[in-house]
Amino acid sequence: ILSARGISRCFGSVTALAPSDLDVAPGEVVVLIGPSGSGKSTLLRCLNLLSPPDSGDIHFRAQCITERGVNLNQVRRSIGMVFQQFNLYPHMTALDNVTLALRRVHRMSRENARARGMAALEEVGLVEHHDTHPGKLSGGQQQRVGIARALALEPDIMLFDEPTSALDPELVGEVLSVMRRLRDRKMTMVIVTHEMGFARDVADRVVFMNEGAIIEQGSPEALFTTPSQPRTREFLSRLM
Ligand code: ATP
Ligand code: MG
Repeated sequence: ILSARGISRCFGSVTALAPSDLDVAPGEVVVLIGPSGSGKSTLLRCLNLLSPPDSGDIHFRAQCITERGVNLNQVRRSIGMVFQQFNLYPHMTALDNVTLALRRVHRMSRENARARGMAALEEVGLVEHHDTHPGKLSGGQQQRVGIARALALEPDIMLFDEPTSALDPELVGEVLSVMRRLRDRKMTMVIVTHEMGFARDVADRVVFMNEGAIIEQGSPEALFTTPSQPRTREFLSRLM
């Protein structure tokens, strides 16, 4: 569904992402791991053109999205993204946060946006809180609103950048279970996470990055139990 070839990104003299290839199949769950600064966020942000790559091509479904003249709103609607920080508008209800882009960017009618928004809130288990403001929700609930906001756009693929890293430990589980449910209904996902137990459990494939490069990838069993690269072994041993 998504195929990146030789994509790279520099910031000044820093090579955040060396030319890299990544393929994601429909329904596949790919988990990106690696040390801080290894380029995981940069890779994700390149994939949905939030920060377009300096080189390389990305094909998404039948389309080359790194070509000039591509409709960025359309791309970002189809490739949803969830961040560590929820970035919800505090003065708006959960439902209004979820439907804002549908109404403002995609010009959907109030009724249709509401129906989509309620369905998305239902998926994350927050229908009863649709009228609540973010300040009255827990961090875990706020992140679930963040997920609903992406889901309301009916994306074909969802990118998650450390969605639980800003949460108190007791709130991590509810967000991970929402993601498990998405996996169960065959949502295609690319997830950056430090939750190795979760990675092992949900990933079809784990990708290890180091210093802006993809070092190795494989099934969770293979990567976690018999990594082939010394740098992967070293990274994993520091986590155990
Ligand atoms: P973390 O686990 O800490 O989130 P990461 O794997 O997501 O790390 P990136 O955020 O992709 O790593 O960063 C890769 C490199 O690119 C780092 O050296 C970082 O300092 C640099 N970098 C990332 N974004 C920018 C930016 N906007 N401006 C300058 N340098 C950046
Ligand atoms: Mg990051």
